[in-house]
Amino acid sequence: MIKVVKFGGSSLADAHQFKKVGKIIRKDVDRRYVVPSAPGKRSPDDTKVTDMLYSCYAQALLEEEDSQESFETLLGAIRERYESIIRELGLSLSLEEEFRSIRENFTRKVGRDYAASRGEYLNGRIMAEYLGYEFIDAAEVICFDEAGNFDGEKTQEILSERLASTERAVIPGFYGAMPDGKIKTFSRGGSDITGSIVAGAVHADLYENWTDVSGFLVADPRIVENPKEIDVITYRELRELSYMGATVLHEDAIFPVRKEGIPINIRNTNAPEDKGTLIVEATCQKPRFIITGIAGKKDFAAVTVEKAMMNSEVGFCRKVLQVFEENGISIEHMPSGIDTMSVFVHQDELKEMEQKVIAGIHREVEPDVLELESDLALVAVVGRGMRTTRGTSGRIFSALAHANIEVKMIDQGSSGLNVIIGVPNDDFEAAVKAIYDIFVTTQL
Ligand code: ASP
Repeated sequence: MIKVVKFGGSSLADAHQFKKVGKIIRKDVDRRYVVPSAPGKRSPDDTKVTDMLYSCYAQALLEEEDSQESFETLLGAIRERYESIIRELGLSLSLEEEFRSIRENFTRKVGRDYAASRGEYLNGRIMAEYLGYEFIDAAEVICFDEAGNFDGEKTQEILSERLASTERAVIPGFYGAMPDGKIKTFSRGGSDITGSIVAGAVHADLYENWTDVSGFLVADPRIVENPKEIDVITYRELRELSYMGATVLHEDAIFPVRKEGIPINIRNTNAPEDKGTLIVEATCQKPRFIITGIAGKKDFAAVTVEKAMMNSEVGFCRKVLQVFEENGISIEHMPSGIDTMSVFVHQDELKEMEQKVIAGIHREVEPDVLELESDLALVAVVGRGMRTTRGTSGRIFSALAHANIEVKMIDQGSSGLNVIIGVPNDDFEAAVKAIYDIFVTTQL
């Protein structure tokens, strides 16, 4: 078996966390490839090393004298984060040479991505030393093209060949290099992507993503007290729940493993005995509850267009949607009736363009009525179990009715996996609670 293990920033914030990680890796010989993030926050008011690096590089770009002083202070603080880990782990690794070249490269202004990548690079060096694993610089194996886009084909070729001859290795997350050697990072949280790419390249049996929570929760814990954990979720369900997923796992981390049919296991470094959430392509395993999860977001606006005989007017929807496209507004949902269609968009995207959109729709389709409504929240109720269970929608809406919540919109996704409900912003939390209670609390 081959397992690729990725550890997030909070799992590697200090030596104490490193020791937990070491224990986890040593416990299972299959954990052969390790992808670390940069050290994260040690306490809620701490600063992530990646953010320190961005600030430090910003100082390096300034020419003023006092910025030189802040640059030195910041660089010193970053170095101390790593030195304290090395000290407390009792390692003999010296970062002297590394920091000399980092200082030089910052002063030469080689790039913001290079600066940020040093967080993972140095943590990888320490991790490799601590575990006695080979260190592979991600700049040699994770490839971006000239335009700065990830080059999956080239990476696959280089990385799988390199790892085929490497029994155990540490590959830092978050960055790679362009053909000219210039360092390029993924977007924030991108070590998840590296882990997934490595897992795909070695055809791993499992990609373990270790973080500081025991997997995905059925609902947001800020809304529902002590929500249950999701034990198994499919990739498609996770996508439908993307309103909540992003904070646990980077969205782009799914593709490289999904392509290879490799499951992802979200695990908790601080509670390694917890099984976490397993993300799979498909499963016969019956979900614990009819619904897998509830997620949602506030601050949507709905633009409703009404016109008699709209259904028989060829191209009507396209013309309306084109107006949004021309104004650079993405569309979230689009419920419709025989003579009406509503377009749900992010309120902040519409704000600036509102009058242009109204004028555009009038020009394109001459509607009978055009209405705008704002401050709406969308709640997504998702579950593979919903497809085969009768009465699910009935239960959702009676729960909402009992909680006295006005339902503004209903959209049952064509996958049959989800129901999206629009409610006023102010009722959002109550709606999530009511749905959680009816499907989870009452079933315990
Ligand atoms: N260290 C990077 C960040 O803070 C990448 C990561 O942690 O995945 O975004």
